[in-house]
Amino acid sequence: QAKVAGKNCYRFYSRAMDQAVERRVHLEHELRGAWDRGELSLVYQPVYRVSDNALLGAEALLRWQHPEHGAIAPSVFIDVAEQSGLIETLGPQVLRAACEDAVRWSAQRGDREPLFVSVNLSPRQLRSGDLPRIVADVLGDTGLHPRQLHLELTETAVLGDESLASAMLSQLRDTGVQVWLDDFGTGFSGLSHLRRVPIDGVKIDRSFIADILRDPDDLALTTAIIAMAHSLGIIVVAEGVEREGQYELLRERDCDLAQGYLLGHPLHMDEFQKLL
Ligand code: C2E
Ligand code: MG
Ligand code: MG
Ligand code: MG
Repeated sequence: QAKVAGKNCYRFYSRAMDQAVERRVHLEHELRGAWDRGELSLVYQPVYRVSDNALLGAEALLRWQHPEHGAIAPSVFIDVAEQSGLIETLGPQVLRAACEDAVRWSAQRGDREPLFVSVNLSPRQLRSGDLPRIVADVLGDTGLHPRQLHLELTETAVLGDESLASAMLSQLRDTGVQVWLDDFGTGFSGLSHLRRVPIDGVKIDRSFIADILRDPDDLALTTAIIAMAHSLGIIVVAEGVEREGQYELLRERDCDLAQGYLLGHPLHMDEFQKLL
């Protein structure tokens, strides 16, 4: 009896696994032409300076509106793009589109302080030796000032291979762009590595910000990250600020920048331009 159950069980999991693999292959196939079919677009989440609520820039976030399945989460399709290598064509397309949009905002803002655009890069893009050349080409072609471009890399991507990453980050920063560590704090070892990787800023992961009003440990950690970063001359962004109380607490703790649903949801280009 047990044997039969075990066999059924195995069969069940194996079928579920087959289906998952099948779905992935299907998604990968669909994703391949999605950019050219106009199914992919960028939205921009505003980023504010905490001390005076000034709008300083925006993070570009990719969206996929599938004609049959509707909106597909970036956590799903970015992973497919990363695993399949598709990110090596998609990543530069995203970078170029975001820089073009940022040039348009600048024109619209006139003489006021230019806004930055923050673009997420996947680990595979960092590992490909082409990245500094791609960034330089896009800056040259679009005319975006390098200081206006921020590149976001996850802590795990950078800490996976520190010497390679450090060399790559130095090359990137030589082009004049800023490099930020995303989802910071999810691997706590990061704090001690901060001084060894050449970066401009860290983004505290929203899982910490979510609980700073209730959990003293998360508040202590957030406060420690801010203090440590500042002592190293690194800027700090808080992600996922949803409540007024969190924002006040972050201001009290001297956090530099913030983004989150309290301050602004990701917006399509035309909506973002209205905000300007
Ligand atoms: P991320 O870079 O950490 O982006 C922040 C995520 O938090 C976004 O999710 C954003 O919509 C969400 N968010 C912002 N404010 C709040 C808030 O107040 N509360 C909550 N609960 N969430 C908030 P999204 O757009 O689903 O993106 C998920 C992840 O997908 C991103 O995390 C990033 O790692 C990746 N991603 C998105 N676009 C790109 C891209 O163009 N290239 C690459 N390589 N990765 C991307
Ligand atoms: Mg990000
Ligand atoms: Mg993040
Ligand atoms: Mg995240």
